[in-house]
Amino acid sequence: MAGNEYNRSKRDFVRKCLALPAAMMTMYRFLPETASAADNRRPSEKLAMFQEETPRGVKCLLCPNGCILKEGEISRCNNRRVRKSRLYSMAFGNPCAVNVDPMEKKPLYHFLPASRIFSIAAAGCNLVCLNCQNWSISQTRPDRTRNYDLMPDRVVKEAIKNNCGSIAYTYSEPTSFYEYMYETSVLAGRAGIKNVAISNGYVNPGPLKKLCTVLDAANIDLKSFNDNTYIKLTGGKLQPVLDSLLIYRDSGVWLEITCLIVPTWTDKIDEIGRMCKWLSENGFSDTPIHFSRFYPVYKLDQLPPTPLYFLNDAARIAREEGMKYVYTGNVPGNEQADTSCPECGTRLVSRQGFRIISNDIRDGKCSKCGREIHGVWS
Ligand code: SF4
Repeated sequence: MAGNEYNRSKRDFVRKCLALPAAMMTMYRFLPETASAADNRRPSEKLAMFQEETPRGVKCLLCPNGCILKEGEISRCNNRRVRKSRLYSMAFGNPCAVNVDPMEKKPLYHFLPASRIFSIAAAGCNLVCLNCQNWSISQTRPDRTRNYDLMPDRVVKEAIKNNCGSIAYTYSEPTSFYEYMYETSVLAGRAGIKNVAISNGYVNPGPLKKLCTVLDAANIDLKSFNDNTYIKLTGGKLQPVLDSLLIYRDSGVWLEITCLIVPTWTDKIDEIGRMCKWLSENGFSDTPIHFSRFYPVYKLDQLPPTPLYFLNDAARIAREEGMKYVYTGNVPGNEQADTSCPECGTRLVSRQGFRIISNDIRDGKCSKCGREIHGVWS
């Protein structure tokens, strides 16, 4: 991308972001002290971990898109290409976004509350969501973004230097930079740093199971419970995401789920009811679910924000279907963001924006009745 084009898309992105309340923005910024060069547009490559040769080209086995690429072709996720008949991940060690966030911003409400998380992203995504709020980095290629030089060992050092106990692979789609995420996670784990994926869950079972061996927590988007809507809104299918949730459930990785309610697309109360019923019946009733408010952005900037009454209805239906930890988000000043004991109803964690106001969970239990409150609290 030429410099002017980059600046124009960046200006456009900032203009659209200014229309959003601060609480919903997954805004990122460069940390100038983090890396010497924030302008590397020739990202380094890494041999892709999941690939096979076919008569039609090299097939990527990482996600359900199943790209088959010929020499020089760029993948659908914008992050992979074939060179000398081998598939390579681009932007290994070259994130385009680096930031320190509060854990609550991910959002993760039941995982190391009030801690700092070192957050990185490389350009690319294997879905094409019409409502992507980070489209300027998710829908482009690593050689068209300004990038840092930040190899995995350096990411771990920077996380420690910035007093972060965790690293998040976030903002764009970490599946598209799987090799970078995986190798960084291995090194981070050895250094006692936790690893967190903020992902669309659109990944094949084999690679996900391998990733789960090095992850500690994940927040997965469940964007709809209707396959037609999934395809039209995101370009992906529903079933692979449900399969990923089941793998996370059995993996020991702490899981939270985010469901963004997009007016006219996913504001269907019967579908949300069926989604929560499926979650309850499949062992996710103790998994926190975040119903998130949509704001006009990217290709859906003509839609209104999600009405508050609908978010409240969705939260009520989720509770009726047996979900025990239900939150609404992106609603500054009007969020259902507190954690209450599912047994005695005592309010245990009070949150304001991304801040923890009080926390009365003791040793992972309700301080009043002693019931276990699911999560990783310390
Ligand atoms: S990860 Fe990227 S290259 Fe691989 S199948 Fe998915 S979209 Fe295609």
